[in-house]
Amino acid sequence: MTLNLPSTTPMTWRNRFARLGNDFSTLQPLRPLSNPYWVSRNAALARELGLDASWLASQEALEAFTGNRVLPGTEPLSSVYSGHQFGQWAGQLGDGRATLLGELQTLQGGRELQLKGAGLTPYSRGGDGRAVLRSSIREYLCSEAMHGLGIPTTRALCITGSDDRVRREEIETAAVVARTSPSFIRFGHFEHFSHANQHEQLKTLADFVIEHHYPACRDAAQPYAALLQAVSERTAELMAAWQAVGFCHGVMNTDNMSILGLTIDYGPFQFLDAFDPGHICNHSDNQGRYAYNKQPNIAYWNLFCLGQALLPLIENQEHALAALESYKTVFPTALENRMRAKLGLTGETAQNYDKALIENTLKLLAAQRIDHTIFWRRLCDFSTPAGRESVRDLFLDRAAFEIWATPYAARLEQQDPHASSALMRKTNPKFVLRNHLGEQAIRAAGVQDYSEVETLLHVLQSPFDEHEDITGHQALADFPPDWAAGIEISCSS
Ligand code: AMP
Ligand code: MG
Repeated sequence: MTLNLPSTTPMTWRNRFARLGNDFSTLQPLRPLSNPYWVSRNAALARELGLDASWLASQEALEAFTGNRVLPGTEPLSSVYSGHQFGQWAGQLGDGRATLLGELQTLQGGRELQLKGAGLTPYSRGGDGRAVLRSSIREYLCSEAMHGLGIPTTRALCITGSDDRVRREEIETAAVVARTSPSFIRFGHFEHFSHANQHEQLKTLADFVIEHHYPACRDAAQPYAALLQAVSERTAELMAAWQAVGFCHGVMNTDNMSILGLTIDYGPFQFLDAFDPGHICNHSDNQGRYAYNKQPNIAYWNLFCLGQALLPLIENQEHALAALESYKTVFPTALENRMRAKLGLTGETAQNYDKALIENTLKLLAAQRIDHTIFWRRLCDFSTPAGRESVRDLFLDRAAFEIWATPYAARLEQQDPHASSALMRKTNPKFVLRNHLGEQAIRAAGVQDYSEVETLLHVLQSPFDEHEDITGHQALADFPPDWAAGIEISCSS
């Protein structure tokens, strides 16, 4: 039964998305899970949202974030969107298992709170509306890991679980992730109204996004082209961040692309272990459409779909194409800046050789399948003899290493070694959520041991720190075990 009681903690909600009306969403009764229990709470995010820690630990919060109690002031709803999946127009999709509670007012501005896995909605299509504990832990940890890395993302406030059974390839148990974002609007929301020729609703949506999230576009000569350009630029920045850290999303369908340029919908994602540019993390992606090295082009393809969807508002195709063009300059510049920082090259202006150095580094990593995260972290100490040796130890082909290392060392000598090393230490993380780390935490959680979830949450929220206080911190930063290669992550979640 869903409870509807006054809350014991002050929270101010606004429901601007709900005000857009029935064409955009359906008010959604919450569907309770039996006997919910806590899996994890994110104290850092709770603080940012202004939520009281003791309240967040309460029975009331447990029920509210499972969907068993309606928080006063919220208007739970599910929104409708469409999208291109694996390159094909998929028609109407929508929040098939997500319910938006409303927009919590915080010191950082409005934060929408959505329950993922909260049960059937009008958009569930053949699905059960639920999420399993396994995938919920992955989303919870990875979104916080991305935030810790400084990469734009939705965030996760807590996970609750239930022993209610959910059928996937095997029988698993249900869980709900409470996640937050300034907005959960996707490219697919725009595609939905455009493809249905609902141009009035398309305009309402675009005006809503401009007013609340891109106010600078309002004053542009062509506000909708300006919106497309701003989204293109943010998406370009996001792709540069993903590529630099070795993040594969796995399902870059247009319904999984945030209009705010955030990482959203964590499914079969993976941080690269060995550097393999063609790596495909999604076991269901037979063609490798979403392989690591394809992500920047796919993002552009998705932006093109967004541009097409906005055409009825932009009216002039040339203006839309010009807006999209910005991606082609912002992405390479953003990526080059990030790669220069990873190499410890300080200073605003790149030198002639820097581009070649970046290319040669990536070629070398690829040729010898060097562990991505460990290479970059060890590189932070490259200017010391012991540091250089520890980088060299990663390479079987020492001759190839020396051919690369000699000009790199010469380039670094033009820099202040302390400044280089400091830059690299806040650019090259020690900790990322490798698949096997998530897997270990998931296995322990299966027997109600959530301690690994807690440890990973703590470490991943500040991934550039050494975390020497944590027992076993080194193991969390180590090479993946052999069994990690056998982990198969598909869309099933
Ligand atoms: P995803 O691949 O998780 O981004 O989901 C793609 C679409 O399928 C979205 O519309 C989801 O809401 C929907 N979906 C995924 N899993 C389920 C489920 N278990 N029940 C209902 N809808 C789902
Ligand atoms: Mg999705």
